[in-house]
Amino acid sequence: MAFSTDRPRRLRRTAALRRLVEQTRLHPADFVLPLFVKEGLAEPQDVASMPGVQQHSLESLRKAASEAVSAGVGGLILFGIPETKDATGTGADAEAGIVQQALRALRSDLGDSTVLMADLCLCEYTDHGHCGPMTSDSATVDNDVTLMRYASVARAQVEAGADVIAPSGMMDGQVGVIRDAIDSAGYADRAILAYAAKYSSAFYGPFRDAAESTPSFGDRRGYQMDPANADEALREVFADIEQGADAVMVKPAGPYLDVIARVASVVDLPVAAYQVSGEYAMLEAAAANGWIERERAIVESVTAIKRAGAQTILTYWATELAASLR
Ligand SMILES: [Zn+2]
Repeated sequence: MAFSTDRPRRLRRTAALRRLVEQTRLHPADFVLPLFVKEGLAEPQDVASMPGVQQHSLESLRKAASEAVSAGVGGLILFGIPETKDATGTGADAEAGIVQQALRALRSDLGDSTVLMADLCLCEYTDHGHCGPMTSDSATVDNDVTLMRYASVARAQVEAGADVIAPSGMMDGQVGVIRDAIDSAGYADRAILAYAAKYSSAFYGPFRDAAESTPSFGDRRGYQMDPANADEALREVFADIEQGADAVMVKPAGPYLDVIARVASVVDLPVAAYQVSGEYAMLEAAAANGWIERERAIVESVTAIKRAGAQTILTYWATELAASLR
């Protein structure tokens, strides 16, 4: 039987050969750590569905942020949980709102040594848990009223020191409105990382425990994307770029590697992907049961996301990964 002289196994023979030809390499700066900070908390609280993840007090947030920066992560992204919630999410743009307090504290601790990102949405701040104020018949989120709220939140976040605003609400026109708002407030130099292709995903379940943002009625399918759609992701990405996005994100990451690859192949901006709470919880749960090799599975999961085309990965393992790569 004829046999090709091509033997791919030659380059797999030793660890040194494999290392030499490794095509996708992880770096600590690839990773952005999501952090939850809760107003009025005296001690950090464990998130039951995300072992190893906590809701932070301002004090414990500062510690976790410093550890992440020492490990070499590329940046931090903040999510706030207010003490009181209302229909329009007043806590999100209050000058003394929890994320604004956190941004000021971290800027004073860390200077410009890391990138401070602020997630921009209202679902943690509204009493109904949706991503913006509802229409008068409570049927859905009022897109254009919500945009006005997002503009105000963006101004509060840049004034508090955010380097990057990351709008995640999936309202039509949100990037353009936020760009205008921060430009006219004198912050034309602050960047927007758009959650451009954010799917309505079952994998967000544990996050809603962490961020206390479960909708009290209905779901988010009226504004987040249908998991069945891929072409639409490109439409969302190009709309956000046209409105002024500086970088674009796909969320979730692992179940949407095809979308990451398609987006990365057509845009010339940085592409990020969010390895979400459900991706984290599944792997941690399997590892806790001894069903999977934890560290190898974590590295493989983020390597796949980078290989697909994401240069920045938001992941709850950011500090651990960065430290292990150092
Ligand atoms: Zn939201």
